[in-house]
Amino acid sequence: MSKIIATAAIRGAHKLVNRAEAALADAIKAKGKDAAIEYPNTAYYLPIMYLFLGQKVQKLGDLEESMQEARNLLHDPPSDDLWLPYLGDTLDCGVATLLAEETIEVLKCFMGPSPVNGIWLGFTDDAILRTQGIKLVDGRMPGFAAIVGATKTNREAVELIRGLQERNILVFMAGNSGGRAIAEQLAAEGVEMNWDTFLVPYGKEITSAIHALNFAARSAMTFGGIEPGGMKQAREILRYNKERVHAFVLALDADPGVNGQLLTDEKYATAAGAINFGFPVISDVNIPEILPSGICTYEHVVANVPVAEIITRAAEVRGLKIKIEKIPIPVPFGAGFEGERVRKEDMHAQFGGQYTDAFELLRMKPLDQIEDGKIEVIGPEIDGMKEGEAFPLGILIDVAGREFQEDFESVVERRIHHYISCANGIFHMGQRSIIWVRISKEAKAKGFKIKHFGDILVTKIHNDFSSIIDRVQVKLITDAEKIKGPLEEAKRMYKHRDDRIAGMTDDDVEDFYSCTLCQSYAPNHVCIVTPQRLGLCGAYSWLDCKASYQIDKNGPNEPVQKGECLDPVKGQWKGVNDYIAVKSHGNLKNFNAYSMLEDPMTSCGCFECICGIVPEANGVMIVDRDHAGMTPVGMKFSTLAGKIGGGIQTPGFIGIGKLYISSPKFISAEGGIERLVWMPRTLKEEVGVRLKERLQKIGKEDLFDKIATEENAETPDKLLEFLESVDHPALKLDPII
Ligand code: SF4
Ligand code: ZN
Repeated sequence: MSKIIATAAIRGAHKLVNRAEAALADAIKAKGKDAAIEYPNTAYYLPIMYLFLGQKVQKLGDLEESMQEARNLLHDPPSDDLWLPYLGDTLDCGVATLLAEETIEVLKCFMGPSPVNGIWLGFTDDAILRTQGIKLVDGRMPGFAAIVGATKTNREAVELIRGLQERNILVFMAGNSGGRAIAEQLAAEGVEMNWDTFLVPYGKEITSAIHALNFAARSAMTFGGIEPGGMKQAREILRYNKERVHAFVLALDADPGVNGQLLTDEKYATAAGAINFGFPVISDVNIPEILPSGICTYEHVVANVPVAEIITRAAEVRGLKIKIEKIPIPVPFGAGFEGERVRKEDMHAQFGGQYTDAFELLRMKPLDQIEDGKIEVIGPEIDGMKEGEAFPLGILIDVAGREFQEDFESVVERRIHHYISCANGIFHMGQRSIIWVRISKEAKAKGFKIKHFGDILVTKIHNDFSSIIDRVQVKLITDAEKIKGPLEEAKRMYKHRDDRIAGMTDDDVEDFYSCTLCQSYAPNHVCIVTPQRLGLCGAYSWLDCKASYQIDKNGPNEPVQKGECLDPVKGQWKGVNDYIAVKSHGNLKNFNAYSMLEDPMTSCGCFECICGIVPEANGVMIVDRDHAGMTPVGMKFSTLAGKIGGGIQTPGFIGIGKLYISSPKFISAEGGIERLVWMPRTLKEEVGVRLKERLQKIGKEDLFDKIATEENAETPDKLLEFLESVDHPALKLDPII
C-alpha cells in the first residue's frame, strides 16, 4: 500500500474526528447530554455505531463514548523508519472516519440547518431501505455506485449517469470537487433525481457519503439477519457486504490536470472507510493504486480510468454481472428509468389516464395466426399527434408457444408496465384498462414513435420468456373508433381471469409453490405461496410462481407437494414441513400457513405489511411500510421490521402481502378477519374494495367501519376505548393468547 495515500487517509481521519468532537461539544453545550438523538424512521439507532461498536446511541451523551472509540482507533501517520506495507492502520483510521462522519451528519439533523434541502436527500430511512432492498434481491439492481466529486463537464456527468441507469445500478452521490458536485451538474441539466430514478444525492459535503455506508450496513442487518455489536460481528457484516452488496466508489475529480491534488485528506479517509466494507475505489485521477491484498479479493483502488470507461472498469473490478439489453429504439432503456415521471410541461402526448380510452391485453393465439415480430399501428403515428393532447391507445399483444398456457397470460401482461416504463422519456402507470402513458418531448425529438412500443415489447418478451413463447406480434391502436371493439373484448377477458383466480382455493391444488429468491439476502428464508396466500412481498402469487417454474425449472420457485394434511385449521402439511426443513437448512421444522402464533411463516425483510398481535384488544393490527407513525403495539413499522426479518419465525408477528388481508385464509387459525382491529387509514383505503367484498360475502359488512386507524387510536388504551364504542367483534372472541 502506498504511503502517500495512507498518510493522507490518516491525516483526514484525525481532522474528521477533531471536527466531530467539536460539533458534539457544541451540541452538548446547547442541549445537554440527555437530549435524545436519532435519525428518522430507523430501528438501527445510528447504524454505524450500532454495527461497529454494538452501541445503541439514543442520547447526545452516548456519542461521547462513540467518539472515544473513534479516537482509540486513530494511529499516527507512518514515519519513514516505521513503514510497513500493511493496510491495518489505515483501515482502523477508516473506521474512525466512519464513526466521526456519522456523528457529524446526525448532529446536522439535530442542530440544523437540515441537511435535507433542495436536491439533497440526507439519511435513507428503513422504509426506503426495504423497498430498494427487494430490487437488490431480485436482481433488478446488480449493485450500487457511490460517486464522490464531479466531472469536468455537465455533458460527461449526464452520460456517466445514463450509463449507470441503463445498467440498473443504484447511484449515491456525495461530496464535491473544488466546490462542484455531480448532483448539481445533473440538476442543471434537468435530470430527475430521487429513489425512483435510482439517483440519490445525499449531500454536498464528503461526510454525507456515510449515508451510503449506513445503508449498506443496514442491508446486511435487515436482510442478512446478522446481529450487530462489536468488531467480530462487524467483520461478518463486512464480509456479507463484500459478497452480496456489490458496491463500488467512483472518486471523480473535476480537474484531473492537477493529478489528484483536489482529492482532500477527508476523501482519502472516507475511501479507507469504504474499503473496510469491501467496496473498491475507482478514480479518474492519478491517485496511488492499491494492489490485491487484505480485505478485498480484488484491487482496492484503481486510478487513472477515463470517465468514459469508468463503468466498465468498475464492473470488472467488482465482478458485477451486467446485461445491457439492446432494444432497437432511439432512447436509452433500463430499470433506472422505470420510476421517472414525465411532467405535463415536458410531455408531447398522453394516452388514457381518464382522458381517453386505453388498455393493454396479452392473449394466447394458435401459432399459425401469428407473424412473429409484426408490429402494426392502427391510427395516427406520433407525428400526427398535436403537442400537449390526449389520444387513445390500445396495446394488443398476441403470443404463441407450445408450452404456453392461458394462466400465463396475465403474468406476462403484468410485465408490460415494467418494460415500457424502462424507456427514457416514457411514463407508464396502471394496468388493464386503467393505463396512463405519456411520451416526452425529448423522446419524440430523439425519434421515438408509437411503433417503438411494439419493438420494446417484442424484444423483451422474447428475451425473458423464450422458454414458453415462440412468437409475438403487437397491434397499437390510436384510432378513437377502432379501439372500441378490442377494448370490449379486453374487458371480457379481464373478468374471465378474475373469476378464475378468485375461485381458486388452497384445497383445489395438490402443490403449493416455494419462493427462495430472498435467500440471496436471508439465507434461511422460504416463502410458501398458496392460491390464497401470496408471497409476503406482494409480488408473487401462486400463478406467478407456477409460471415462473415453467419458464425456468432451476429458478427460485418450485412446486411443493402438500402431502398428508396434519392440521387443516392451522394449515400444516407433511410435504410442506419436509420441504421447509431442507430449504431452511435445518432451521425450521414445522410450518403453519394460516397461523401467526404457532410456527408461522418466516420473514426475509421485504414484507409489504406486518401483522402483529395486540393482546390488550384480543386482536391483531396490520401496518404497511408507508406508515411512518406509531402503532398500537408501541412500535413503528421500522422497529417491528427490525425485529422480525432475517428468516426466523417470530410467533405473534408475520410479514404479509396486502392481498392476503382479504383472503378467506387470513390468519384463519386465530379466527380470521374478525381479529383485525387496526390499520393505517391509507392502507385501509387501498385494500378497501376487496376487503369490503370479502366482508359482504361472510355477512359482516359492518366490520369495515369498526377497524380503527391512527385517527382513532395510536395506543392500546385508546384503541380499546374505540373498539368498545363500536362493539368490535374481536372483544367477544376467545382469548387470542
Ligand atoms: Fe422474497 Fe418471498 Fe417475495 Fe419470493 S415471494 S421475492 S422469497 S418475499
Ligand atoms: Zn424478501
